[in-house]
Amino acid sequence: MHDQRLCPPEIAKVLTDEDWMRYAMQLARRAEQAGEVPVGAVLVKDNRIIGQGWNLSIARHDPSAHAEMQAIRQAGPVLQNYRLLDCTLYVTLEPCPMCAGALVHSRIKRLVYGATDFKAGACGSVFDLVRHPQLNHQLEVTAGVLASACASQLSDFFKRRRAEQKAQKALLKGLPRPAAER
Ligand SMILES: [Zn+2]
Repeated sequence: MHDQRLCPPEIAKVLTDEDWMRYAMQLARRAEQAGEVPVGAVLVKDNRIIGQGWNLSIARHDPSAHAEMQAIRQAGPVLQNYRLLDCTLYVTLEPCPMCAGALVHSRIKRLVYGATDFKAGACGSVFDLVRHPQLNHQLEVTAGVLASACASQLSDFFKRRRAEQKAQKALLKGLPRPAAER
């Protein structure tokens, strides 16, 4: 039984990796609007959305509430299976070790990501957990789809946030200090 909310009855044309990545970027915007780091993820099977999500760690007070985890959690009940066979996950940023582990556990077939995470990426840059020969499942990986657009979405967010923090600091500096500090 498919969840109709997540599975529109038909998508007329077969969408490309770029199309799905553009959709994941729209989901990332939802995170950004909520003040979260803009990462979006969509899980697709047979050209249908079976799970989607964006970062919600701050709002949920949950370090595991990454975009990929939201998408994976939605998909299990939709497929009525804890294994998400023959699915492709599209995500705007290379998954971290936690999400990479969940991708292996869920037996997702293919991972497509946008920007590379040179600090904590676990799908080919810092680590490569999703293709580790000692694990019992390996994913097919396509890296760098709309990479520069995905990277700009993130770097613009951090730039804006730094500017906001700077402005706030300057504002506080301009306020009279409490008498005890003078
Ligand atoms: Zn993650």
